[in-house]
Amino acid sequence: MKTVVTISELRSARLELAEPVGLVPTMGYLHEGHLSLAKRAREECASVVATIFINPTQFAPEEDLDSYPRDLDKDLALLEEVGVDLVWMPTPEVMYPENYQTWVTVDELTHVLEGTSRPTHFQGVTTVVAKLFNGVLPQKTYFGQKDAQQVVVIQRMLQDLNFPIEIVVCPIVREPDGLAMSSRNYYLNPEQRQAATVLYRALTAAKEAFEAGEQQAEKLRAIVTNKVNAESLAELEYISCAHPETLIELEGAIEGALLSMAVCVGKTRLIDNIFVGK
Ligand code: AMP
Repeated sequence: MKTVVTISELRSARLELAEPVGLVPTMGYLHEGHLSLAKRAREECASVVATIFINPTQFAPEEDLDSYPRDLDKDLALLEEVGVDLVWMPTPEVMYPENYQTWVTVDELTHVLEGTSRPTHFQGVTTVVAKLFNGVLPQKTYFGQKDAQQVVVIQRMLQDLNFPIEIVVCPIVREPDGLAMSSRNYYLNPEQRQAATVLYRALTAAKEAFEAGEQQAEKLRAIVTNKVNAESLAELEYISCAHPETLIELEGAIEGALLSMAVCVGKTRLIDNIFVGK
């Protein structure tokens, strides 16, 4: 497995790779969720490139950029184990050299859900992902359903900017008790870690209610809200029952929807989602 940092190192290494190339973008501190993406890419592509970059432009000033967990040696060992060919680990200076001025913005889809409390987040994501695509020139790229809105936004960007890249969306990998794996779970103390199971418990309660015949969007949101409110260490930021492609909030009877939520457990902000009726 080769590692590169600069754009010119990347360009030379890219020339050696067999096609098709699959790209797995990450911010590091890898867990089984990330590795499921790399394994899927390994199955489907002749070469696999992973990137590790904690992208400063997708963090707001008050967010956790400085404390975001890092363990590069372990990450590289894990990526090597699953058969990744090339790891690109750019520095912030490589990505955003002095006088950097160009941004990629997806409009309406980024104003809702995560965009409400993180108004600058998606511009950072789409800009860095476009730069990763232009650097690596993959035929396929692998993203996790864990970040449901990110998937919708990247799909929109791929179409709108004519990137010749296929996105493969991989299912959420969960801990045995249902908590979606996340690098940020590392912040939770044992009590908070237990409380954090409420996200998946609440989403599955709503899904079960839907399957038992409760199809009103308002009711599904209320089921989730009540479950989260019953957990004293958890504070609900939002619960959405939205159209899975437009992300527009649904009212009344639904046929299928993306139920997604953000919850704070202590200072840690966690997200999760589930499809109902799909
Ligand atoms: P991150 O390092 O948090 O930026 O995540 C990198 C990629 O891994 C994104 O496409 C995430 O959606 C995906 N990912 C993170 N956690 C999970 C998970 N629990 N299951 C599946 N994919 C995940």
